[in-house]
Amino acid sequence: MKKINIIGGGLAGTEAALQFSKNNWKVNLYEMRPKKMTDAHNTGNLAEIVCSNSFKSKLMGTSSGVLKAEMNLLGCELLKIAEETAVPAGNALAVDRDKFSQKVTDIISKDNNITVINEEINEIGNDLTILASGPLTSPALTEYISKLLGKEQLYFFDAIAPIVAADSLNYDIVFRKSRYDKGEADYLNCPFSKEEYYRFVEALNSGEKHEAKEFETKLFKEISFNFYENCTPIEELARRGKDTLRYGVMRPVGLIDPRIGKRAFAVLQLRTENKEKSYYNLVGCQTMLKYGEQKEIFRLIPGMENAEFYRYGSIHRNTYLNSPEIINPNMSFKNKDNLFVAGQIAGVEGYTESIFSGLLTAKIIIDDLPMLPETTISGQLWRHLISPSKNFQPMNSNFGLLPEIKMEKKNKRLKKELLGKRAVESLSEFLKNL
Ligand SMILES: Cc1cc2nc3c(=O)[nH]c(=O)nc-3n(C[C@H](O)[C@H](O)[C@H](O)COP(=O)(O)OP(=O)(O)OC[C@H]3O[C@@H](n4cnc5c(N)ncnc54)[C@H](O)[C@@H]3O)c2cc1C
Repeated sequence: MKKINIIGGGLAGTEAALQFSKNNWKVNLYEMRPKKMTDAHNTGNLAEIVCSNSFKSKLMGTSSGVLKAEMNLLGCELLKIAEETAVPAGNALAVDRDKFSQKVTDIISKDNNITVINEEINEIGNDLTILASGPLTSPALTEYISKLLGKEQLYFFDAIAPIVAADSLNYDIVFRKSRYDKGEADYLNCPFSKEEYYRFVEALNSGEKHEAKEFETKLFKEISFNFYENCTPIEELARRGKDTLRYGVMRPVGLIDPRIGKRAFAVLQLRTENKEKSYYNLVGCQTMLKYGEQKEIFRLIPGMENAEFYRYGSIHRNTYLNSPEIINPNMSFKNKDNLFVAGQIAGVEGYTESIFSGLLTAKIIIDDLPMLPETTISGQLWRHLISPSKNFQPMNSNFGLLPEIKMEKKNKRLKKELLGKRAVESLSEFLKNL
């Protein structure tokens, strides 16, 4: 019988373990809790979810719904348990957190192919192993990984700016240009008048923020006296002075606004996130503002009145690898090919995505799964982890990952439904032909 070690009995690790067991592999599943706890987990149960109890929407017009449909096609086990322990939450799949993690723990402890070992792992030998130790990987294991890879390949928190759909921008206002017309015009620019700029700064100053958890505040303080300068939340920059942004990240130099034929008072630049240029990152807008506030405040940016957000900004504690640099397409480490990676530490973001990542790595090892179609969210999340990137950041499921569907008339809802339908059909077809 084939054997594998899995480090971390969280969402990715337990999904992977169940996949191996189903295929008659023997699994040693190492989970350090309850002997050693993380700063966010409260129990010794496997697959404990640490914050919200929602796996997000089930609707096919949402990226999260499509990802779940794809995961079901791929034979996901944890989603079945989530359905069995679901609580009413409209169109979302939300669970009773205790019942969910208890059920996963019970199923795994009764599984003859899986042995749970409650020990902290702090080094990894030459046996086939999956690293699924999550965003709160223990310090000793983090130390081992940074020695294995070099410190610069490991990040300790996300400072993520929101991303918006390209087709939701107002191109009567937004213009494409590089500073001083040098090089390729890769950026979109949102030009502010004086009034618009100060209104935006004012809104940033009064926006409600997420409270950082106590352990996060400690971490941020350790990293620098506050935040790394290039990760400073935009609202914190705005607080430092009403002109800080327009002399910094929103400086308008070298950018002539074609509408007025001169330099705007301030400019927010948008950088594309994919080669199809279907979605854009708001440069310098990493933020701790609450999601609802982000929508309202960032829509004050000229040209973004109706912006559709594929992802909101956030800054939180998160240990993750610079995967595109150090991981092979089959999710094994380039410099240690018996070691594979799964879950949030690989560079996905969110509960459902972490489960997906555990499922993916397991299926790659078990079935030698070939690359999934680029019309699927699962395929694009996989590509995200292994495609070269200057500024690699964890990614959640979103429609911006998918190649565009051209439509004669703009109809966002229909477009999402068509993207979802195409994704599921192409994955079904792909799996049929394997
Ligand atoms: C504070 C916080 C809140 C979050 N809230 C949300 C949310 O509301 N919604 C959402 O979608 N996502 C959220 N996330 C992001 C993410 O989806 C979850 O963290 C998710 O649980 C990640 O799954 P995982 O399997 O990669 O890691 P985990 O589920 O954390 O599993 C990793 C496991 O590895 C164990 N472990 C760590 N080090 C070792 C070691 N050395 N030896 C043995 N075991 C070890 C840990 O105890 C843990 O059980 C949050 C993350 C954090 C940190």
